[in-house]
Parts: sequence; C-alpha cells; structure tokens
Amino acid sequence: MSKDKLTICARCGSDACYEQDMGADYIINLCYGCGFTTNTLMKSGSEFLEEQIEVLPELYKDLIYVDDKGLNWMPSAVNDPEKGMVYAKGPNPENWEWAAVKTLPSKNGKPRMDMENLKSYSERDYMEALEYIGVFKNTK
Ligand SMILES: [Zn+2]
Repeated sequence: MSKDKLTICARCGSDACYEQDMGADYIINLCYGCGFTTNTLMKSGSEFLEEQIEVLPELYKDLIYVDDKGLNWMPSAVNDPEKGMVYAKGPNPENWEWAAVKTLPSKNGKPRMDMENLKSYSERDYMEALEYIGVFKNTK
C-alpha cells in the first residue's frame, strides 16, 4: 500500500509537496512547487545531514532552508541517465535557476547529455523543467 500524499510545503507554502512515507519514521518530501526536498534524517545537527552537506555544491549549501521542525530543505537534483538532468545552477542564492538538460538518444549505446540545449527555468517553474526532460512521460 502506498502512503504517498500531497502536503503543504514548509518552505514555499505550495500544496504540491509530495510526501513519501518509507516506513520506520523515514519520510521523504519533494515539493513540485519549488523543487526543494528534505527527509526526516536531514535534521539540523544530525550526522547524516553533515555528511550530505559536505559533498554539496556551494550553491546548494547556500540555498538550504531550515523549516520550523528543524528539517533542512535543499534543491533537488534529478539525474536520470535515460531522460536527463535537472539541477540548480547559478552564481549565488539570489540569482539561480533550474537547469534542464536532455539525454540524447544513443546510436552507439552511450547516451550523452545535450549540454548545448540546456534550458533554464525559474524556481517556480520546476515542473516545466521536469517536463522538458520528459520525467512524466512514462506515467501516463
Ligand atoms: Zn515548496
């Protein structure tokens, strides 16, 4: 039984925050309104969070939002070898966008990212960035 549901995003207030209950008190949130994600392990001060933050790009670190439960939200990063990538890109937290890159169909069995046709989307257009690379295509 799926326990997935939509909730209100603690970061942006949108009602398109996807919540996935993985059991054992482990809950993952991904907001389709702002593209930010968190989970119950990403509590301020936790060892798990410290380890996550260590490997994050600077922009992701700077964009971290802590909600009133102490959960740390960070921009999501999609990396689907068959469809493409969506990730936060920009010089600083005041000036960033979603970058969407499609995977090119492979002729020799080696798909590659179509960096020349990288498209940028504003924070609120996260869904459009996902649509551009075709994330939702198989779900219909
Ligand atoms: Zn949100």
